[in-house]
Amino acid sequence: MCDLIDEANRYIDLALKGGGRECATCSFQAEGVVLVHMLVRRRPRIPVLFLDTGYHFPETYAYRDRVAAAWSLNLVNLRPGLSVAAQESQFGILYETAPDRCCGMRKVEPLFSALENYTTWFTGLRREQSKSRTALEPDAGFRLPSGRLLRKVSPLAAWSTRDVWQYAREHGIPLLPLYEQGYTSIGCQPCTSLPLDAADPRSGRWSGRKLECGIHIQS
Ligand code: SF4
Repeated sequence: MCDLIDEANRYIDLALKGGGRECATCSFQAEGVVLVHMLVRRRPRIPVLFLDTGYHFPETYAYRDRVAAAWSLNLVNLRPGLSVAAQESQFGILYETAPDRCCGMRKVEPLFSALENYTTWFTGLRREQSKSRTALEPDAGFRLPSGRLLRKVSPLAAWSTRDVWQYAREHGIPLLPLYEQGYTSIGCQPCTSLPLDAADPRSGRWSGRKLECGIHIQS
């Protein structure tokens, strides 16, 4: 565990030495909060981008606000162009009929647009989370739809779920209470259920219809 923490800190320090404009994304799941805990020790005002889709669990919003206040985070809530009501009235319930389109409008477009303002993007991604993440590099380039190349840094790439929870416990970080109800991966409420496969922590996302919302897929 100490080696993993040292390694993560090395990736963070190396990226911060680049002297660019850094930000982190955080959905306020355990790994995101651990990442932010490590980052704000070095950059207390680093922008922490939250994809405020309007569809999160009430518990997620309450927890986000508690952590943001306790740590004085520079929280940036990224909102889509359309409110939930406007989207549903124009296009219906897209998370049922066209979840890729819904994620595109409520997550991918707002994030990629915001990332145009930064040069380095920190994420809490881990290889163990999903078969779609097994080849994750801790420090890699990421090309935005505009063609701009960002540095994307995932210092926890090699961490297990157990490592994340151990770090949180040892540093007194309370986690999103939804974990206590059995959730193992938590996103928007309509697209999150308890895991369908105990061996796959993300199997409760989109009822298995898709693996990724799209923000980690390069154009
Ligand atoms: S996770 Fe579901 S509700 Fe959230 S943006 Fe994607 S499809 Fe829409």
